Amino acid sequence: MDSKNLMKAAVVNEFKQELEIKEVPVPELEYGEILVKIKACGVCHTDLHAAHGDWPVKPKLPLIPGHEGVGIVEKVGEGVTSIKVGDRVGIPWLYSACGECEYCLTGRETLCPNQLNAGYSVDGGYAEYCKAPANYVVKVPENLSFEEVAPIFCAGVTTYKALKVSEAKPGDWVAIYGIGGLGHVALQYAKAMGFNVIAVDIQDDKLELAKELGADLTVNGMKTDPVQTIKDQVGGVQAAVSVAVTKKAFEQAYHSVKRGGTLVVVGLPNDELPIPIFDTVLNGVTVKGSIVGTRKDLQESLEFAAQGKVRTNIEVQPLDNINEVFKRMEDGKINGRVVLSIS
Ligand code: NAD
Ligand code: ZN
Ligand code: ZN
Repeated sequence: MDSKNLMKAAVVNEFKQELEIKEVPVPELEYGEILVKIKACGVCHTDLHAAHGDWPVKPKLPLIPGHEGVGIVEKVGEGVTSIKVGDRVGIPWLYSACGECEYCLTGRETLCPNQLNAGYSVDGGYAEYCKAPANYVVKVPENLSFEEVAPIFCAGVTTYKALKVSEAKPGDWVAIYGIGGLGHVALQYAKAMGFNVIAVDIQDDKLELAKELGADLTVNGMKTDPVQTIKDQVGGVQAAVSVAVTKKAFEQAYHSVKRGGTLVVVGLPNDELPIPIFDTVLNGVTVKGSIVGTRKDLQESLEFAAQGKVRTNIEVQPLDNINEVFKRMEDGKINGRVVLSIS
């Protein structure tokens, strides 16, 4: 923060245009808020959807993206009791919720209709500073660096939660479609939770990584039909989680599920999922949407990382390179997660 209270940030001015690296005012704190000096922020495919205006609900403009921002608390506002200056915290997608609606009251705060989302409806972590309500930030475990922990704040918690809601049991086979930022941690949570894991992607380097990280079986969907392979090898999976950004992967994920199994829909292509009614009924298949995770889910997912059961495969880049990083993400050329190193 310089004397004029300006900070460097990456800003989306218009959809589908390059982000502008510029100086903007450091946010001013209101009651209950804290100011975080951002050290690192992961680049989620959601940030790219935001910058492109891909979804039916558009983000605010201009926008500072980023919902995997982690750093050190520099200032606390009036009324803050749970967090102090010097704490290491992260600011997740669930920036705030109302705390009063039926969803908040029943531990389903990610469904709160009055929630705000970091790097979407409010400014996020692609900046030297980000403010947040103290009650919704989550502390970073001491033994993890800011860079390695950043992706847990979305990729980690989201996939951990998706596996929980899949209701798969230890020993069950689970398929992860899309071994990108989310998928490469999804498969590790799945292993840590006692599942057998099939990793599906359309690029061999992603599948190499999946093998290194413990996948029991890998399938390249460009070279072989994953549905047939999964049916042949294990008779179908109890749960399939699709974190890819193509409709095709969702269709295949659906058809990989065995009788009584569940498809968990996580990836967000702006598309429709064609589901055969007859098969769904006769096979008793469940289709579930899953959106990030609660603060409690996030704490749990961080604990897996702190214990070394899940490790993020990261590539650190300076904030200034964000446009090039987005381009590579569009082309599917990132293995694991890019994390922006900030201040
Ligand atoms: P990513 O770009 O890092 O990974 C996507 C992966 O899918 C890549 O490895 C790509 O090769 C693979 N892929 C593409 N086509 C495929 C196919 N036909 N079959 C199998 N794999 C295929 O993206 P990410 O950051 O992991 O995000 C993935 C999606 O999840 C995005 O749409 C993002 O917005 C969404 N997301 C949802 C939530 C949620 O809470 N539901 C949270 C975070 C991200
Ligand atoms: Zn995300
Ligand atoms: Zn609410």
